[in-house]
Amino acid sequence: MIIDLHTHTRLSDGEFTIAEHLRRAETAGYDFVAVTDHVDQSNVESVVGKVIVGCDSFNKNSTHMKALPGIEITHVHPSEIVHIVKYARSNGIKIVAVHGETIVESVFPGTNHAAIMANVDFLGHPGIISEEDVLLAKERNVRLEITCRKGHALGNGRVFSLSKKYGTKLLLNSDTHAANDFYTEDRYRKTALGAGLSEEEFIHLLEDIREFVKSKIK
Ligand SMILES: [Zn+2]
Ligand SMILES: [Zn+2]
Repeated sequence: MIIDLHTHTRLSDGEFTIAEHLRRAETAGYDFVAVTDHVDQSNVESVVGKVIVGCDSFNKNSTHMKALPGIEITHVHPSEIVHIVKYARSNGIKIVAVHGETIVESVFPGTNHAAIMANVDFLGHPGIISEEDVLLAKERNVRLEITCRKGHALGNGRVFSLSKKYGTKLLLNSDTHAANDFYTEDRYRKTALGAGLSEEEFIHLLEDIREFVKSKIK
């Protein structure tokens, strides 16, 4: 079972059109995938419309994998995040993510906190997230991401250990941009184990993520 809720297409900086992207995910053995292209104030309207059309078209003819329309709010000033979240949700977006304060890029300080306060579905690669924000994420039911993405993955150990300490929920995502980024079953599992999860914790996390996705496709 592969559930990957963070991927990019040509609607932002990914390699493929949505149709090809989803077809590749399906043939890689995915069960659920979210398309979460980068948005800011300038492109949110067009991306929201297109990602919904692309996912709906795929789902109409798919017998196995389901696609979920999403966005990743990226390098938007923390004070503006909540407005984009509201716009996306009221226009049919199922998975709302924020590009968190990764170790390897100059994201605005305060982005992690603003994303949690805006009740996004998950905070991507939150880097050296504060303990207060990990606790707040638990209280507001915002998931934190364990990522396969080079560079962003440097924060995985901290994200896992603090999530475990406070009981904050997690997701396990590839942040796919290109052909070689898609998860295999093996890579999915190893990303979790590399972050510090035990085999048992990994199985438990998979069950938890499955229930989360089910609640999103109702
Ligand atoms: Zn990101
Ligand atoms: Zn991303």
